[in-house]
Amino acid sequence: GCVTYDVVIIGAGAAGLMCALTAGHAGRRVLVVDHANKAGKKILMSGGGRCNFTNLACTPANFFSDNPHFCISALKRYRPEHFVELVERHGVETVEKAPGQLFCAHSAKELLGVLLTECDWAGVQVRLKTSVEAVAPLGDGMRLVTSLGRIHAGAVVVATGGLSIPTLGASGFGYDLARQFGLPVTETRPALVPFTLSPPWKERAASLAGVSCEVAVSCREGHYREPLLFTHRGLSGPAMLQISSHWRGGETLSIDLLPGEAVFDSLCRARRETPRRRLSSWLGERLPKRLAQALVEWHDDDGALADYGNARLQSWAAALSDWRIKPAGTEGWRTAEVTLGGIDTRELSSKTFAVNGLPQLRFIGEVLDVTGELGGHNFQWAWASGVACGNAV
Ligand code: FAD
Repeated sequence: GCVTYDVVIIGAGAAGLMCALTAGHAGRRVLVVDHANKAGKKILMSGGGRCNFTNLACTPANFFSDNPHFCISALKRYRPEHFVELVERHGVETVEKAPGQLFCAHSAKELLGVLLTECDWAGVQVRLKTSVEAVAPLGDGMRLVTSLGRIHAGAVVVATGGLSIPTLGASGFGYDLARQFGLPVTETRPALVPFTLSPPWKERAASLAGVSCEVAVSCREGHYREPLLFTHRGLSGPAMLQISSHWRGGETLSIDLLPGEAVFDSLCRARRETPRRRLSSWLGERLPKRLAQALVEWHDDDGALADYGNARLQSWAAALSDWRIKPAGTEGWRTAEVTLGGIDTRELSSKTFAVNGLPQLRFIGEVLDVTGELGGHNFQWAWASGVACGNAV
């Protein structure tokens, strides 16, 4: 026999569950399948277990895509406030940790609970540990071969996410399926990911593991002013995660360790006013002590400010406000929060997420070539694309 559903959603992650509850509430018979043993693993793991589930300032400008207009419609129709209203209606307490960045006050489990409860209320069936072996058009619907048997669906929604963190169930399934139907897939690479370094910087960063400071980092057209964190493996923290979305192999980052300060002028003033003060002491007032000490050691240069000529102060000013560092690489898919690139959205409707000419096949969430910046934008995209598709399907 062949079971029939109006909608079969592949992937019980953020986008898939949101689409399912929306379509279910709209009266559709919905089945969600996932090969993992648990739904929403990334929701549970995100934001240190508290899930930075949206950003109140989210706009299309927070996304990378080869087709930047595609995300506008869904983001406009489903706003961060709508999602906040949903979780608060279920009694989930939220906190704004950084401006606009909303997290669960207690645990991401509560947020996943909201989605699963809503799915339940909407009559959605969720089947875990289920694999999909084949998907093919049949009449104006779709036929699926799954580990549950054959299923007929009015429409299939692919919400299998990106490639990051394979241990959480990530797979290239969505990209393979897109190619099967002739849809182009743009180059994918890990993003929102820490950098690795080569010697001697690797050892230097390791010796500062745990030290963090606010920096301004630039690479290509990317500029961010956020904290940098030294780790045993290299450079991390929000500044590095953000700039990783702009960086390509072999490129150099420019890091301003004293953002907002005219460093040469400050050093000249300090030399005039406190000539006996040591450079390391001047640095220690502006940077974490361990970093200030490390800097004078790396440059093998510390002494009373009075002994510094203008040229030496100029070169220190450059070293501090335009520290050029060439990462060896990134930590890759193992720790990346997201996948840059994905299914080319030019072949999809931005209103319904249906494939042009094949309305019974739809793609939502991170599997698409729409990737957000750090700070809750990626989940907002999952919610917005899920709702748009769920209403239309
Ligand atoms: P996912 O949530 O990844 O869901 C995809 C689902 O599809 C999974 O359940 C998977 O098991 C299933 N699947 C995959 N392949 C198959 C297959 N072949 N068959 C069946 N099922 C399959 N974003 C934010 O906005 N804020 C944050 O705080 C944040 N923190 C993060 C922290 C970490 C550690 C990571 C990895 C990501 C974080 N993100 C964050 C990004 C965010 O989690 C994703 O962008 C979002 O989950 C994407 O939603 P999605 O539904 O498209 O994919």
